[in-house]
Amino acid sequence: MERAKIILKSGKDQSVRRFHPWIFSGAVKKIIGNPAEGDIVEVFDNKETFLASGHYQPSSIAVRILSFERVEIDRSFLKRKIEEALKLRQSIGLVDNASTEIFRLINAEGDSLPGLIADYYKGVVVLQIHSAGMFRLRQEISEIILETLGGRAIAVFDKSESTIPFMSGIKAVNGFISGFSEPLICSENGFRFKIDWESGQKTGFYIDQRENRRLLQDFTENRCVLNMFGYTGGFSVYAMKNAELVHTVDSSQTAIETACENIRLNYGDDKRHTAFTADAFEFLADIKNKYDLIILDPPAFAKHTGSLPNALQGYKRLNMKAIEQIRPGGIIFTFSCSQVVSRENFRKSVFAAAANTGRKVRILHQLSQPPDHPVNIYHPEGEYLKGLVLHVE
Ligand code: SAH
Repeated sequence: MERAKIILKSGKDQSVRRFHPWIFSGAVKKIIGNPAEGDIVEVFDNKETFLASGHYQPSSIAVRILSFERVEIDRSFLKRKIEEALKLRQSIGLVDNASTEIFRLINAEGDSLPGLIADYYKGVVVLQIHSAGMFRLRQEISEIILETLGGRAIAVFDKSESTIPFMSGIKAVNGFISGFSEPLICSENGFRFKIDWESGQKTGFYIDQRENRRLLQDFTENRCVLNMFGYTGGFSVYAMKNAELVHTVDSSQTAIETACENIRLNYGDDKRHTAFTADAFEFLADIKNKYDLIILDPPAFAKHTGSLPNALQGYKRLNMKAIEQIRPGGIIFTFSCSQVVSRENFRKSVFAAAANTGRKVRILHQLSQPPDHPVNIYHPEGEYLKGLVLHVE
């Protein structure tokens, strides 16, 4: 089949030549043919030299690149990529691991499959698709994933209702593409969590915090822990192992209910834990001297560069509240998951927060996303999660 051709403006081929996987609409000089949303198109420079193939979308990201070589983008292409993704997770010990049954199998650009996220929960794979092209292939992708995982997977759930670009003509409906499963109880580093992909946020769990939750354990002994933006209690469950008390705060009532269920799953009816359905900023208004370990893991404050200044102010205000009020010798795990907030900008916000309080603050660790969320070095935007472990005197 003849593919439509995307011809770039002079000079706009530079980023493609450096393997950046997105073509912005502003770089396009002309389109030869009449590609539909989600079609595979070929990208050429101004002199009509082939550069790449990818999924077309009539939006600000016009093409998401699948290959920089002139290869057929077909079933065996997808199969190769998915096999490579599995192989990486195997090489880091995440597959067939009895103490961790949760991992990210496909991380979009990080696995050279832009627009496609696939998370694995003990046999159930949850897809979250961000492009029309990948959405059109979801049936095939689901089949290939089941085939590649062999007996390890029994069902594929599509959770793309809220992630398919709203400009697109596609109406996605969440549901199983293959098989079926009730919500599951899965292990992560030996701790147990109830995972409900259907009613939960994202694909059901914030898998990206696995290594940071593990690190938290080094700091919890005999501490009074405040887990802000706690969702279903990920950090709380780890903290409960050694802490004196743990308070979990989230504005979502359902998240808090699941957090309590997760604490019960691991510790039974343990009085050291209390959960609060509350707004973070209100809760933080008066916590003076109550806590000596605080986790701040807010939702992305900036979704696009336009909201960056407000987001940075938000991080500053939030961190200031914690730094001001934490007990001397306290530890703060503070995060940003906004893609548009760079590591440097985040650190500057926390610096500004610390400077305002006048307390002595040191950085003990710099945190990131785990290796099943790999970052394509040519796509630095893929490094979205950044965190700091602070020691406050
Ligand atoms: N740390 C969690 C993930 C946090 S995601 C984990 O490891 O699983 C961010 C959470 O912040 C969501 O659960 C969301 O419900 C909550 N949230 C968003 N706005 C909030 C607010 N203003 N106050 C309190 N919680 C909020």
